[in-house]
Order: sequence, then C-alpha cells, then structure tokens
Amino acid sequence: MSDIPIYNADADRSLGLFDNPAWRAKSLEKAGLALVALAVVATVVALASDLGRQRPGLFAWLVFGGFGVGGVVFALGGLRRASGVRNDGKMFSSNQARGAVGWISGLVLTGLYVVLYFAPEALAGLIPLGDPLSRLLRDQPATVANGGQWFLYSTFYTLAVGAMGVRALVRYRHSRYHVVRTLSVVFFQTILAFALPYLLMRLQQPELFLHYTWPLDYDLFFPWKMEELRASGQLGVAMLIWGAILIAVVTPILTFYFGKRWYCSWVCGCGGLAETAGDPYRHLSDTSLGAWKVERWMVHGVLAAIVVGTAVLWVAALLDVGWLDAVAGTFSWLYGLIIGSIFAGVVGVGFYPLMGSRVWCRFGCPMAAVLGLQQRFFSRFRITTNGGQCISCGNCSAYCEMGIDVRWYAQRGQNIVRASCVGCGICSTVCPRGVLKLENGPRGDRATAAPLGAPALISELSILDGAMD
Ligand code: SF4
Ligand code: SF4
Repeated sequence: MSDIPIYNADADRSLGLFDNPAWRAKSLEKAGLALVALAVVATVVALASDLGRQRPGLFAWLVFGGFGVGGVVFALGGLRRASGVRNDGKMFSSNQARGAVGWISGLVLTGLYVVLYFAPEALAGLIPLGDPLSRLLRDQPATVANGGQWFLYSTFYTLAVGAMGVRALVRYRHSRYHVVRTLSVVFFQTILAFALPYLLMRLQQPELFLHYTWPLDYDLFFPWKMEELRASGQLGVAMLIWGAILIAVVTPILTFYFGKRWYCSWVCGCGGLAETAGDPYRHLSDTSLGAWKVERWMVHGVLAAIVVGTAVLWVAALLDVGWLDAVAGTFSWLYGLIIGSIFAGVVGVGFYPLMGSRVWCRFGCPMAAVLGLQQRFFSRFRITTNGGQCISCGNCSAYCEMGIDVRWYAQRGQNIVRASCVGCGICSTVCPRGVLKLENGPRGDRATAAPLGAPALISELSILDGAMD
C-alpha cells in the first residue's frame, strides 16, 4: 500500500506549526535539523550569557558548524527525493505558506536585521564568535568598534549561501543550467564578497568588491568617496576605474548578449542569497498587476533618486555652496538609512518568508533597474513560449520569484521580454510541457507582441497603462 499521505484540501491548517501532510523528514534530514536546532540553542545561549565571550572557539564551532554542517546534511537528505520543484503540500506548509513558522521566521529575521543595523551592541555576546576567523582573515579581533558585527553577518551570509547552495544543487541536480548557476553564486559570494575583501583588509588595503559597482554600490562615485579612494593609493584608483568600466562597458555588453541574468542570477550576492536561502519562498512573490505597477514605480524611483542625488552631491562639491552641501549630506544619510539599511537589509531578507525571495531585487535595487532597462530595450534575451503546448497549469507563474505572470504569455504564445525577469530559469524547469525556453537569439523577432522603441518605453515606465493587454 502506498505511503503517500491522503490530502485533505479543506484542512486549512497553515497556522499550525508542522502541518504539511505531504512532507515527512527522512533520516538524514532529521539529523541535519537536529544540528541546526543545536546551533539555534548555542546562538541563544551566547546572546543571553557571557559564555560565548569566554569560549569563543567552542561556540564558533557549535554555531557556525551547527548551521553549516546541519544545513548541508539536511540538503543531502534531498538526494533521496526526486529532483526539481515539487508541489508536495507547499501551499499548506506553515513555513512556506505564511503560516506560524513563516511569520515567526520573518519576525526573527527582521528583528535580527534591525538589531544589526541599529543596535549592534545587543549582539555583544555573539560577535566574539567571529574572532578566530576574523584574526585568520583580516588579522583583527572581532569587536563592535572595528565592525565585528559586519564580519559576523558576512560569515552567516556566506554560510547560508553555501549550505543552501548545496540544497539548490541537490534539488536542481537534473539541470546543468541550475547546477552551474548555483556554483557561480556560491563562488562569487565566498571568494569575491567574503574572502578577498577581508584579505585585502589584512594587507591594509581598501575593501575591494570586484563584482559591485554604482548604482548598487551607491556611494562609489560620491565626491568624498572618490577622494578617499584616490588618496588610498593605486588600488583605490584601480577600484574607481574598474567600477566605471563595469557599469559603462561590461554591464551593457553582457546584458545585450545574455540579459540581466548574467548579474542577477549568476554574480550578485543579493541574488545569490535569493537563489539559495530564498528558494523555498520563491512562490510567495505577488503576481498581481498591482504589484507590477508598484514595482515599476519603486525600482525606477530608487534609481532616479541615486542618479539625481549623485549629481547634486557633485554640484555641491564643485560650487562649494553651503546650503547645497547640507542638502547633499542629508540625502546621502537618508539614502543610506532608508534604502541601504532598511530596504536592502531589513526588508530585503527579513521578508523572505512573507513576500518571497526577491523583495529587494523587485522593488528597490537600482542595479536591477539599470539592467532591466537594458534588458527590455537593448538585449537579445527573451523567453520564448510554445503556446500550443501550454496546459495552463500555472506552475510557471507560481514559481516565478519576480512575480511575473508567465502563464499569461505562454497561453498567448508570446515571447516574454520583461525588464524584471532575472533569467533564473525556474519557470522553464517547472513547466511540465516544455513550453518555455530562455534564449539569446538575434534581436529581430525578439518581441512578438510588445512594440519596441518609444511606445514600449512609455509602457514600461507608465503606471497608467499597466494592463498587459
Ligand atoms: S520569468 Fe522565469 S526566468 Fe524570469 S524571473 Fe520568472 S521564473 Fe525566472
Ligand atoms: S508551466 Fe508550462 S504548461 Fe503550465 S502554465 Fe506555464 S507554460 Fe503553461
């Protein structure tokens, strides 16, 4: 007799704690969860007592080891399951369908980000856990005074991308595209976003993030930041030149050939976390027309703010006008607080279990806005649809992390040429009929319905004509 649980569709139990009847942990998954639970207990003990400060080495192993090894062991348990996204009661899961576990996770994550940004001294018991690794990489102890909370955060972040990256590799092991894409984001996070900047710090050099540039690195071209980098020596000047080349040359060329996916799904650290730790929540993205309208206003608004703000800062610096200087300083502070801290950090990751994995990328990232405009108007990338094969199951729309109603296009056999598509390829992977294909062919027949040129630009930016037909 089959051991597949019978589903009771009217049992709306998403507020229960462990209520997904179609998912039962296998032994390896149980072992992984036990290690993660141990890490949670050790974290709470370190936060609430002096033990973490007294035994940083032991607690570092318990916390980082518990989360890292536990996450990997849990992920490997997935080898005993079929690969790919499964509709196995996900919409009834407390964790993955905004039930009690989802809300608790969201609140805890949001709370941790709030503390990290605005009250780091509350993490005093946890920060010393980063001490052994901090001394090894950047030759400094981990303290609040020298940014130890950010070192701790980067360590957790990299660990999450790595461990959940193993989960993504296991889950999508049947797809070479997803395997290579996952290895890519793990590499960029581990080497370029974590190890290299700290090793440079050890050598008394400025932090160097080779894969970040303006406008995501929003203050890179602010007058005082440029002066600071110029004064720091050859490496600082090289960083400025590389940042300019990256945004003015590399980005348009790669986006022309591959769409924004080369960055958003292969390189970026925010995208890396979304594609790994955020993958279980990708179906929570809002696919409504209203969300699309809000998204376009917000993401382009943030881009406009950073462009205008950078220009004002330069005018203020060049003209040396007192009041303009004050305005520019206030803008810089406000942007850092609202966009850099609250939006990118607190909301961007804290709301994964409530609003899906790409809240920041969809609604706030200025780099995504630049890449999106390039992708929409000057790229060869498109998702082609073989409409005759579509059975309107809706899998593609359900699992699109950018909230694109993919099915709407598929039903009409229309190519998908959307600024927000990050080219993750999951819509294509979950389609049971092979309807969707990510392609980079010649631009000629790229958009089969939406016009290119000025009308399309108006359509892309306008909130008034948001209807898709
Ligand atoms: S449309 Fe497909 S490839 Fe694009 S973001 Fe959505 S799921 Fe990913
Ligand atoms: S997943 Fe495939 S078959 Fe289902 S609605 Fe989307 S395009 Fe159609």
